[in-house]
Amino acid sequence: MRPFDYHRATSPAEATRLADQKGSAFIAGGTNLLDLMKLEVMAPDRLVDVSRVDADGMGGIEPQPDGGLRIGASVTNSALAADPLVRRQYPLLSRALLAGATAQLRNKATTGGNLLQRTRCYYFYDRDTPCNKRSPGSGCAAQKGVNRNHAIFGTSPACIATHPSDMAVALRALDARVELLSPRGKRRIVPLEGFHRLPGDSPHLETVLAPGELILAVHLPPPIGPRQIYRKVRDRASYAFALVSVAVVLRMEDGRISEAACAFGGVGTVPWRDPALEIFLKGEAASEALFDEAGRLLLRDARGQGGNDFKIPLLKRTLRAVLAEAMAERASNPAGGEA
Ligand SMILES: Cc1cc2nc3c(=O)[nH]c(=O)nc-3n(C[C@H](O)[C@H](O)[C@H](O)COP(=O)(O)OP(=O)(O)OC[C@H]3O[C@@H](n4cnc5c(N)ncnc54)[C@H](O)[C@@H]3O)c2cc1C
Ligand code: SF4
Repeated sequence: MRPFDYHRATSPAEATRLADQKGSAFIAGGTNLLDLMKLEVMAPDRLVDVSRVDADGMGGIEPQPDGGLRIGASVTNSALAADPLVRRQYPLLSRALLAGATAQLRNKATTGGNLLQRTRCYYFYDRDTPCNKRSPGSGCAAQKGVNRNHAIFGTSPACIATHPSDMAVALRALDARVELLSPRGKRRIVPLEGFHRLPGDSPHLETVLAPGELILAVHLPPPIGPRQIYRKVRDRASYAFALVSVAVVLRMEDGRISEAACAFGGVGTVPWRDPALEIFLKGEAASEALFDEAGRLLLRDARGQGGNDFKIPLLKRTLRAVLAEAMAERASNPAGGEA
């Protein structure tokens, strides 16, 4: 690991001021960044620690007047998953968080850091191989290499790596927005939909964050429905990233879907969502034909890379199982306000 300066910020304004110079990086739980620094895949000169910043709501979970929630960027994954309001109103989020990593890691990992965690592509971590994300223009070893855990949606000739976060998949289905603070003191709110960039020909640019810009919080609107399921398929029951994951939020009225949001993990270069699928689901009742057509529609543009071809039928089967479970009569949660 290369030497670096370390500063602990006490407020968001101080953090952005300290980070407003080339070679600076924020550090929160450090569960991803420190691994990357040890491998010298990332080598910041200066770390600005924001893990203990509580000011401006960075350390809290606050109910909002519209019935939604503001989640501070320094809130740990454990605290967020265990929060009573999150468990009651956004069980999808709680389950996605608990499906990630291990208890020790979740105790350190934060909301902001989780959104910005880097891919788990093996070649990204191996400095002896070409990787456009780590070293722009060097090539992509995964295209003709081992690509079992890679993406089937949103890929480009430059990069086929997945976004690894479980939390971000749930947030995508819940229409989250990300609140940012610039070193000039300017605040802006970006929908999560536009926060992560597709790789295109510049996979090293992963988000729309400007240099020195800090994630202050994540905002959630009230959920569109009480039926919320997160299912993660992985190689081991814990300590493993998703091969595929499906997040579904539904509202049913008179046996038919009145609202639907579906997001997918382990399959996209960004947390994936498909508006055409959601439009198709609205007004439908549960049937084998519906589940078949939903899978066909979702996977219409999926592209396997060889080693990950199995994700196409696996995602189809997982979506079918999750939709069937979410639409079943017993899934109705009176506390969620469904008619
Ligand atoms: C063994 C292992 C297994 C794992 N399994 C899973 C899993 O199954 N599912 C899953 O989703 N995740 C998994 N993870 C990843 C883990 O969830 C992330 O490492 C963690 O969420 C990152 O949060 P952090 O606070 O530690 O971020 P850090 O490592 O501190 O930072 C990550 C990045 O975010 C930036 N950053 C942090 N906070 C801010 C902020 N407020 N504003 C702007 N930039 C910021 C940092 O500069 C850095 O670039 C696993 C990790 C490990 C080590
Ligand atoms: S898939 Fe992306 S992260 Fe992996 S080697 Fe290719 S460019 Fe690098």
